[in-house]
Amino acid sequence: MKVLVINAGSSSLKYQLMDPATREVLAKGLCERIGIDGRLTHKIPAKDAKYEFEIPMPTHAEAIQAVLDALLSAEHGVIKSASEIDAVGHRVVHGGEKFASSVLIDEEVMAAIEECIPLAPLHNPANITGIKACQKVMPGVPMVAVFDTAFHQTMPSKSYIYALPYEYYEKDKVRRYGFHGTSHRYVSARAAAMLGKPIEELKIITCHLGNGSSIAAVDCGKSVDTTMGFTPLAGLPMGTRSGDLDAGIMEYLMNKYGWDMKEMMNVLNKKSGVLGISGVSSDFRDIETAAHEGNQQAALALEAFQYSVKKYIGAYAAAMGGVDAIVFTAGVGENDGNTRMGAASGLEYMGVKMDPEANNVRGKETVISAADSKVKVLLIPTDEELMIAMDTAAIVGK
Ligand code: ADP
Repeated sequence: MKVLVINAGSSSLKYQLMDPATREVLAKGLCERIGIDGRLTHKIPAKDAKYEFEIPMPTHAEAIQAVLDALLSAEHGVIKSASEIDAVGHRVVHGGEKFASSVLIDEEVMAAIEECIPLAPLHNPANITGIKACQKVMPGVPMVAVFDTAFHQTMPSKSYIYALPYEYYEKDKVRRYGFHGTSHRYVSARAAAMLGKPIEELKIITCHLGNGSSIAAVDCGKSVDTTMGFTPLAGLPMGTRSGDLDAGIMEYLMNKYGWDMKEMMNVLNKKSGVLGISGVSSDFRDIETAAHEGNQQAALALEAFQYSVKKYIGAYAAAMGGVDAIVFTAGVGENDGNTRMGAASGLEYMGVKMDPEANNVRGKETVISAADSKVKVLLIPTDEELMIAMDTAAIVGK
């Protein structure tokens, strides 16, 4: 089965055509500057080939058409007919409380995704536009929605409730939802496979550390808590996002500098996190270089990030009454041995013992804890596209 995986943003669209059974990626790429002019980058992994095109993309429909044309092209295509695409899997950011798993898209599902727009005003409209564009260009092809929030719908109410007047949960759906669910689900399943144990017998803490970062407590295969909240601003400090903070700071700074809420949110979303503390960059590579050169703020940013990861690992071990495995994934988690070491060292008291040599690795499934570590520490590259393709194949194949 060939599945086209689509991740649509407001002015960009990522795609992968893959066979979930063999895990082979036939082609992948990116449409950028949709609504401005339009640029397509198309890659064929098997040939190690990369093509770039300027194509007018006034809307997402032209972008999807350009993707189809590239997939079908005589020179750089990978399929002969559009009918070879059996199904399309769409990443959708917010499924609210409606969706606890992936679903086949029909009119009712589209209406429910639209209902979630107030919860994700930047993301869901773009995802909906991507779905509608595919429906227009590929009529009749079954489409599946895979939600970032769905995996965390198993959280108990004590994890997701905020200590606000209860009416704001009942009336306004203000609660913790959590994000990166597809990634946490994928790496926790891989962790169980690597350990050769059923996931139903494992307590796993998954650390998705990228530009956006979140940690999840996965007990017996179910998410029971996660660091992101009502929005993806909560939890760990991130590349540019503040993570958790005292809400009173907002009133203090807004009054002091005369900011409106938009200006305040811009600081919290775009100017904070490790960029804010370091004053250098949101990219951990730049911050590490600066720290090596003696920049104290850069060193503090790294220290604060590692401390925050460690704190949540401790919290989630307490929440689950123990932990069998800790997983590191995403850009920082997969590539940055220093951050992994900083976050996992000092946890020897709870049975975590790192193997510094094994930890000197990037981007491949590896056990990075010592042979005698009670808690296994694993590096597992995430693959959200594969998870989306697998869900899509499972649902469409039924
Ligand atoms: P996103 O949340 O945008 O999907 P990624 O998971 O791709 O982000 O992570 C991107 C981040 O990974 C970069 O901003 C950078 O900080 C970090 N990163 C990538 N490679 C390395 C590396 N070799 N060492 C340290 N950090 C890295």
